[in-house]
Amino acid sequence: MDVSIKSVRKSFERFPALDDVSLDIRSGELIALLGPSGSGKTTLLRLIAGLERPTSGRIFFGSEDASEKTVQERNIGFVFQHYALFRHMTVLENISFGLKVRPRSTRPEASAIRAKAMELLELVQLNGLEKRYPTQLSGGQRQRVALARALAIEPAVLLLDEPFGALDAQVRRDLRRWLREIHDRTGHTTVFVTHDQEEALELADRLCVMSKGRIEQVGTPDAVYDTPASPFVFGFIGESSQLPVTVDNRELWVGGRAIGCPAPDRVSGDARLFFRPHDVELAEGNAAIAGVVTGARRVGGTRRIELAVGGNDHKVEIDLPFDHPAGERSRIAFRPKRFRLFDPV
Ligand code: ADP
Ligand code: MG
Repeated sequence: MDVSIKSVRKSFERFPALDDVSLDIRSGELIALLGPSGSGKTTLLRLIAGLERPTSGRIFFGSEDASEKTVQERNIGFVFQHYALFRHMTVLENISFGLKVRPRSTRPEASAIRAKAMELLELVQLNGLEKRYPTQLSGGQRQRVALARALAIEPAVLLLDEPFGALDAQVRRDLRRWLREIHDRTGHTTVFVTHDQEEALELADRLCVMSKGRIEQVGTPDAVYDTPASPFVFGFIGESSQLPVTVDNRELWVGGRAIGCPAPDRVSGDARLFFRPHDVELAEGNAAIAGVVTGARRVGGTRRIELAVGGNDHKVEIDLPFDHPAGERSRIAFRPKRFRLFDPV
């Protein structure tokens, strides 16, 4: 099911939780809403679900205006961070619940409901646990039951709000891959909320990056990572360093010297240079950014060096191989291989 969000605003009292948000969710895709806490992700999900009404704007399911429809009419499957399983029901009863409470005219036969629930139990790899109660399951198992329960109603849209947020890192990583596999098999249109960029980059077909109630960028993980549309996105996704620079005659200047980087789309003026610590090369001579090493730490398989550029005013980080002899106070000259320029603050 395509879902189209058109110029939606949502205010609580007078606080704008969502400010003119437009987004087209494509049928069958897994899209991640990614942003820091308070950026409006849950609010957007609740609006899609029909748990909240927009202050203004419209939401379409396919070509139909869904704005006045209830959660049931929209046929939404929902999984929250904190397992909302029914504690007094077994795993099988939990999964069957959404079908059992349907009005008689659309409710399947009891035997069909059971068959469907058993099929989902298999899909989420919990065969044999159908008689357990939620308290007899691990956190990861509970979230798998919650997903099976959400899928039982064959939802038009599946909404997942930080479903793995309360689980520990290894379980999260496993469930992430597992969710992707389930999605590839079932093909439900899925909106996945997370504040974890690694999770979003690995899992999603597209990312929708949010900040302060607005959408900053929508695109594939590669597009968002490689060409962040704003300083916020550059800083929020992946590692980043930044420096004030001057553009003169289409060349980048730092601390009074040209650094050997042509500016792609600017002729002159002040700008902010953003680059990834791993996207740099060491340079000889004057046409480079010069800095003094002020610290180093291990980051995965590389050594991340902190440099002070232009006295102590600006700190940047670059990655060097472990065997590079840079020590405290040594001077390093480098050039970013790839970078983006944004307007000064
Ligand atoms: P996220 O899920 O990205 O952390 P939310 O959508 O939950 O963000 O919240 C966005 C903003 O809206 C926050 O500042 C939050 O405090 C506010 N907000 C959300 N729901 C309500 C509510 N029911 N009443 C008042 N403010 C709310
Ligand atoms: Mg939230």
